[in-house]
Amino acid sequence: MSVSNRVVFDIGHGSNTFPPNKGIYLPGGGSFAEHDFNAAVAIKAKRLAEYNGFEVLLSQQPYQKDVPLSSRTSYINVEHKKNPILCCLSFHANASANNSASGYGVFYWNTSQNGKRLAEIWNKYAIQKLNIPQWGSGVWQSKLGDWTNFHMVRETLMPAILIEHFFFTNPSELQKCNTPGFIDLCAEVAVRTICDYAGRGFKSLNDAEQSKSQTKSDVSSWAKEAYEFVTKNGISDGTRPKDPVTREEVWSMLQRYSVIQK
Ligand SMILES: [Zn+2]
Repeated sequence: MSVSNRVVFDIGHGSNTFPPNKGIYLPGGGSFAEHDFNAAVAIKAKRLAEYNGFEVLLSQQPYQKDVPLSSRTSYINVEHKKNPILCCLSFHANASANNSASGYGVFYWNTSQNGKRLAEIWNKYAIQKLNIPQWGSGVWQSKLGDWTNFHMVRETLMPAILIEHFFFTNPSELQKCNTPGFIDLCAEVAVRTICDYAGRGFKSLNDAEQSKSQTKSDVSSWAKEAYEFVTKNGISDGTRPKDPVTREEVWSMLQRYSVIQK
């Protein structure tokens, strides 16, 4: 029997979840929204997973309004019944009232042996690639009647893990981890995990392929305001910020700009 090549990447929360929750205001101004980080990891991981021969389903689109948890798992389970899904990875970043809490961790549903195996594989690559400490034992059980009773690992019909990549409430960890470099490593850990779990080798993207998965997090700080302007006004979708532009694309952007003028 061949192993399924279908996986789900579940992007934690939505564009409307922060403010007020799932994010933080920074002392020097500005803010961090957990969804934006989770979305950036998923976009990069999707590109890399497809390059490695996987079909990737997203239960929440990047930078879109939050899909309720029950809608996410019913979509995933319906898809699983149509054509089996190998596994589901839910992408998150962690928060704590204790701002020195730090490190990465992964949850699996306590009765799922394959969920446990998937979590242990993820943890193995996190140790190799993510240059931050482990949070507690790294691998955590989710169970009923407990704070670890997470919907995404409980209700999914296939092996599932929920990944907390780092603590955004820890100022030094936020500075280190909310970066394109760390996001790339998180995507690599996710895809190495599914390749290993599926019993196949892992291929890295070359530079040309990599540029196709650039996201909001790759936008230079001097261009952030322009990025917000063009994406909010429908002039550009904001993908591939570092790519060269053709004359045809300039013409189209100018035309889209002209229609927003009063
Ligand atoms: Zn989260």
